[in-house]
Amino acid sequence: MKSYGIFEFGEPLALREMPTPEPQGAEVILKVKAAGVCHSDIHIWEGGYDLGHDRKLSLRDRGVTLPLTPGHETVGEVVALGPDADGIEIGETCLVFPWIGCGDCDVCREGLENYCLKASNIGVHRDGGFADYVRTPHARYLLPIGDLDPAEIAPYACSGVTTYSAIRKLGDRIARQPVVLIGAGGLGLMAIKILRALSAAGAVVVDIDPVKRDKAVEAGALAAVDGAAPDAVAQVQQAVGSAPLSVIDLVGSPQTAQLGFDVLTKGGTLVLVGLFGNIATWPLAMIPLKGISIVGNLVGTLQECRELIDLVRAGRIEPIPVSRFPLDRANETLMDLRDGKFVGRAVLCP
Ligand SMILES: [Zn+2]
Ligand SMILES: [Zn+2]
Repeated sequence: MKSYGIFEFGEPLALREMPTPEPQGAEVILKVKAAGVCHSDIHIWEGGYDLGHDRKLSLRDRGVTLPLTPGHETVGEVVALGPDADGIEIGETCLVFPWIGCGDCDVCREGLENYCLKASNIGVHRDGGFADYVRTPHARYLLPIGDLDPAEIAPYACSGVTTYSAIRKLGDRIARQPVVLIGAGGLGLMAIKILRALSAAGAVVVDIDPVKRDKAVEAGALAAVDGAAPDAVAQVQQAVGSAPLSVIDLVGSPQTAQLGFDVLTKGGTLVLVGLFGNIATWPLAMIPLKGISIVGNLVGTLQECRELIDLVRAGRIEPIPVSRFPLDRANETLMDLRDGKFVGRAVLCP
């Protein structure tokens, strides 16, 4: 099999030729149909995250070993079953849920495998979908997608389930008041569509890029505000109709986290999703005085992914725009994503 791997952090992805995997135990092997290229692949490729104060979260220290084939947004066709594999048929096309925990710790037992400290995530800790085959540990992580387009479904494993999980953290308030979405990239567009599928009151989008603001309005946002405007807070509150209860920050920079904090009303919730990094300087007394909840969100749970794919299969979510590239363009596609060249999602189709 062919795959494109990280051999050294920050070095170009390079071709890896390996034997096609043989399934052991409960494993299932899929022939890759589509592999989304995600912003977190850039962090994985760089080897870490900026924590501010010149500190970095090192993925090597977090158990990521090289060489590694990235790719955590994978759709494939089941081609081989291990002797103990059960619950899936050869020939089924499935989305691979990549956020795999140990199955045995407190968070895993709560169904929060995506927060397991001993995670074994596909495309992060074990080889992922930038390949023509991918190995998965168990059929429970495979979500059949029927005849849906693999390239359009692949991003639901990360950007889709991330936005779905972030929206779910806002509870049923989303039905009564628009949600403020900061960042109109791939996640922002996905969030607009998921909010509509959930019959929510809509989205007010904030982005500093006028092209992305236009795309957000085209995708159904109620309004799009320039986050760099001096009166951005007032503009957001006017577009929502009042100071909002619900903000999702899909960027996670000091500026966006500040804006998200400043626009909230009492009792509001700021869900942080974006991993841009550095440090926030919220006035601490305002957190209790306004009773604000600041909630982190990293990807989502297997159950949330199932709910999301049910919505997709029911035709409730329109597809987001995807740009397709051959597998041997893996490195160029990753670099183009880093350089901000895509609106929507980039997907490798072997
Ligand atoms: Zn991702
Ligand atoms: Zn666990």
